[in-house]
Amino acid sequence: MTTHSFAKITPRKIAIVGAGQAGLLLGCALLHQGYAVTLVTNRTAEEVWSGKVMSSQCIFDQALQIERNFGMNQWEAQCPNVNGIGLTIPTSDGKGEMAIHWRARLNACAQSVDQRVKMPGWMTEFERRGGDLRIENVEIPQLEALTESHDLVLLAGGKGEIVNLLTRNDARSPVRQPQRQLALAYVTGMERSGPFECVNFNLIPGVGEYFVFPALTTQGSNETQACDIMVFEAIPGGPMDRWADVKSADQHLDVCLGILRDYLPWESERCANVQLTDANGILSGRVTPTVRNPTLTLPSGRVVMGLGDAVMVNDPITGQGSNNATKGALHYFDAILRNGDKPFDKAWMQSTFDGLYEGYAEPVIRWTNSLLFPPPDHIVRLLATAQHAPRVAQRIANGFNDPRDYGSYWFDEDATDAWIAQESQSRAA
Ligand SMILES: Cc1cc2nc3c(=O)[nH]c(=O)nc-3n(C[C@H](O)[C@H](O)[C@H](O)COP(=O)(O)OP(=O)(O)OC[C@H]3O[C@@H](n4cnc5c(N)ncnc54)[C@H](O)[C@@H]3O)c2cc1C
Repeated sequence: MTTHSFAKITPRKIAIVGAGQAGLLLGCALLHQGYAVTLVTNRTAEEVWSGKVMSSQCIFDQALQIERNFGMNQWEAQCPNVNGIGLTIPTSDGKGEMAIHWRARLNACAQSVDQRVKMPGWMTEFERRGGDLRIENVEIPQLEALTESHDLVLLAGGKGEIVNLLTRNDARSPVRQPQRQLALAYVTGMERSGPFECVNFNLIPGVGEYFVFPALTTQGSNETQACDIMVFEAIPGGPMDRWADVKSADQHLDVCLGILRDYLPWESERCANVQLTDANGILSGRVTPTVRNPTLTLPSGRVVMGLGDAVMVNDPITGQGSNNATKGALHYFDAILRNGDKPFDKAWMQSTFDGLYEGYAEPVIRWTNSLLFPPPDHIVRLLATAQHAPRVAQRIANGFNDPRDYGSYWFDEDATDAWIAQESQSRAA
């Protein structure tokens, strides 16, 4: 990572609220450039390590490369690689057979390091780089104090209550209700499947989705271990939405395994010997996909800027939130450095966020939201074509790394059908 000398001559004070993927990554990167960074978060490293899982946090190559460039890839050698994407759609007759099935390699691997491992490790790294780490629940008075003492205050509070201070941008948030009941189970003992490790997506029309992939998680009080993360996305009120009355971690896992038995026998077979990594290796909840306005004007008139999930929270159906948070952290990092000694005023905040939204996030969010609704026929035709056309499968799979690519065909029936025809012709030739 190159160090920009102007930042060393005029160090500026940046405060970040929230020690998550976005806040810690940006904080550590700014410290390396000589900025004075204060990070205020509401849980200690120990509380995060020993708490509940928060995400499945699968990160694709572009975002992994940002972590590498910032020297934040501490677990890369230990973490299992995800080398491909698999997609299966069962037949609609409930007979437990596959209607569509393919697997394709990613051009470069993805990885998932449990945030319970990563965030405590990054908090240590933040302090090692000279950052001022404070444990405190931030509300408006604390934001006022931080804006008084710092040149820029960023709110990276994820899904914390505080981010609701940033107003919803209705024009950019077409989805108004949670579209899925989410559930996670972190397990060991799962059978491997196929010649290379994949995120195996299973789309069950009218019911929901299940995806599963290897990851690195906690073991005991300070070790790590490989695991698999099972992610369930149930249509609310539908036959897969079964966690409402769950009272224990074991019951949670039983519900998960029952769904696989009922709908996805090929996934169920892999789970004969699974057990939870730990009693906190489970989660259930709902997310309303929301894009917020990036600035909050405090009673004093001073302004705070949002970052990460605080400004753009997505349903995890496409596994893009941590990727967006990482790319957003890089975008803000570049903008902060480019701003030099100039004030971080409201106009700078708005244009920095708009640059991220328009230059990257909008098509990612559009594609993610599209998967929450039944796929149009041309997408079903495309997914079926991918079974026999490796180039199609590979392009769809690698779109997870940079979903802007979907913008050129996913939403355009004519473009998709022209591509399908082209692939069919080249197969026939
Ligand atoms: C079930 C599920 C599965 C997911 N799977 C994936 C996936 O596979 N791939 C992917 O890319 N993304 C995934 N995501 C999304 C991803 O986890 C988030 O997008 C990402 O963590 C956002 O990072 P962030 O830094 O904005 O927020 P977070 O990582 O949530 O960090 C927020 C921080 O703010 C702190 N905080 C909150 N309120 C306050 C307060 N008042 N004062 C002080 N501190 C506060 C929190 O303690 C935390 O440290 C998933 C999400 C869910 C729910």
